Amino acid sequence: MPRTLVTGGAGFLGSHICEYLLKKGHQVIAMDNLLTGTVANIEHLQCEEFNFIKHNVTEYIYCAGSIDYVLHFASPASPKDYLELPIQTLKVGALGTHKALGLALEKKATFLLASTSEVYGDPKVHPQKEDYWGHVNPVGPRGVYDEAKRFAEAITMAYHRYHALDTKIVRIFNTYGPRMRPKDGRAIPAFIPQALKNQPLTVFGDGSQTRSFCYVKDLIDGIYRLLVSDYHEPMNVGNPYEMTIKELAETIIQVTGSKSEIIYYPLPVDDPKVRQPDIAAAKKILGWEPRVPLEEGLRGTVEWFKQQDL
Ligand code: NAD
Ligand code: UDP
Repeated sequence: MPRTLVTGGAGFLGSHICEYLLKKGHQVIAMDNLLTGTVANIEHLQCEEFNFIKHNVTEYIYCAGSIDYVLHFASPASPKDYLELPIQTLKVGALGTHKALGLALEKKATFLLASTSEVYGDPKVHPQKEDYWGHVNPVGPRGVYDEAKRFAEAITMAYHRYHALDTKIVRIFNTYGPRMRPKDGRAIPAFIPQALKNQPLTVFGDGSQTRSFCYVKDLIDGIYRLLVSDYHEPMNVGNPYEMTIKELAETIIQVTGSKSEIIYYPLPVDDPKVRQPDIAAAKKILGWEPRVPLEEGLRGTVEWFKQQDL
């Protein structure tokens, strides 16, 4: 039975990864300091094969016994969170990644880094392919997240090349689904509660900026395939179905049957104008592509939000 440590395991994606790995027969340790996550996300996973350890992974990570896989998901992830937590974001991307790599090296474990499409910044190449180096403002408000993740990728490749550690880097594009925090400020968890309450949907800018949204089930399947592959270069995993944020707001109004209107607020500084993954590598190397259409994924997400305290 493989034994796996997931940092950020009480977060949105981390909790889904823990659940998936338990189903695959792993023993799972979720390590999290609950900065933006909650034990409510993992309560349903309680069993003999699952453990939760409350720990800040920017500090030395101690874990008794053998570990086969280390998945490093800990980091504030929504623009609202990382703007409010700039130092913690830089520390978990830099010091936290160093500690998680150190643990993987000590245990001779496979290491997977949850990186992001934000390493491409406000991209000048569209769609984004893995060999694009990006267009990032290091000193802008988003720089705390983007540069921390770029450092995290660099130190992961250094451990791979210098220590021959078995490493994987997944560049995750915008992902949504159950267990996103209603107040985390990202577009989908902002719009769904607004629509359910018949309040105006808050579109930033004129809504012409684009994103490509992947349902969490598809993403986790792609990440697992990368984890068990022999591939060590960064890999995009996301849904190439691109839409404007205005179209997203209209779709959510339609899916929820809401009476909401759309109101417009100023566009945040350095908000990327376009974003769409090129997933040719994931298709070829992992045999992976997303399967859940947006409206189906949104319906599942809406059902979950209906049960939350909005
Ligand atoms: P999330 O905020 O729900 O989860 C992050 C988790 O990390 C939280 O449970 C938080 O408490 C924990 N954490 C933060 N700092 C920590 C620390 N120092 N020590 C221990 N735990 C800590 O966010 P998410 O959407 O689940 O994102 C998870 C990972 O995936 C992040 O690394 C993020 O950068 C990456 N990612 C997510 C998306 C997306 O669309 N959801 C896109 C790209 C990348
Ligand atoms: N956005 C918006 N209204 C909101 C929240 C976000 O118009 O209430 C926009 C945001 O400016 C960005 C897009 O939606 O252009 C996606 O934002 P999100 O925070 O979900 O992800 P990211 O910017 O990291 O891709």
